[in-house]
Amino acid sequence: MMIKRFLSFPIFAVLCLMAFVYYITVFIFIENWLELRSSSGILNALIFSCIAFMCIFSFGACVLIDPGHVPSSFVPDVEDYDDSDQRSRKSAAHSRYCDKCSAYKPPRAHHCRVCGRCVLRMDHHCLWVNNCVGHSNYKPFVVLVTYTTVGCIYSLVIILSGAFQKDWEFSGRVPLKMLYLICGSVVGALCLILGTLLGWHIYLLGHNMTTIEHYEGTRAKWLARKSGKSYHHPYDIGLYRNVTLILGSNMLKWFCPTSISHLKDGISFPTVRDNS
Ligand SMILES: [Zn+2]
Ligand SMILES: [Zn+2]
Repeated sequence: MMIKRFLSFPIFAVLCLMAFVYYITVFIFIENWLELRSSSGILNALIFSCIAFMCIFSFGACVLIDPGHVPSSFVPDVEDYDDSDQRSRKSAAHSRYCDKCSAYKPPRAHHCRVCGRCVLRMDHHCLWVNNCVGHSNYKPFVVLVTYTTVGCIYSLVIILSGAFQKDWEFSGRVPLKMLYLICGSVVGALCLILGTLLGWHIYLLGHNMTTIEHYEGTRAKWLARKSGKSYHHPYDIGLYRNVTLILGSNMLKWFCPTSISHLKDGISFPTVRDNS
């Protein structure tokens, strides 16, 4: 059953890309620059292998950890809604009703068309992990993006170090030059894409926001500005608390993708209102 989740073309493509970057970095570029038999070659290969292992481990966690589904017993608490009068509270609660699932959904949960169900604290449906990214696997997802970015930067540094150290006038064979150019471009592009994705999720993490909430917030901000009010994301309760809610309070476990026992039920979340 679990193996079935890995049977998708994007997952196969990601694994092939990871294997490709690992192979060229260790067996071509480290070998070519430092030689794998030297102590510095072994050290670099070892460090890169550890990063590669953590990439695969986090990737597996993203694919296999269920993002969280709405319990069948869930009923919304009308008191949870901001509006002051009873009628608008009820209509706010009604707006959290999912017609497709014929059930109420908690705050921050959304219906995923691909998964065909409501997902707790849904961020987005990720094709590359063949899973929704939500309440329980958002941390593994952020950790995965972090390790893959670090791995790509490490690989690019090794490629560039080897390329600059070489005396191309004498030792530069055309196929080797082409290999450096093509692989350098591929890994450089990956660094750019993953680095941007990481920057985006660090921003979201710092504001305790999901990708969906970011777009909803942009609209809410515009509407608030039009009526002369200001808008504040209700779950943004300060940088430190925002980060520890997702990554956990123990900093030593921040980069362990399976350390998610600190996560609450995903039904209710602390808001600015609770703090005031
Ligand atoms: Zn639904
Ligand atoms: Zn989904």
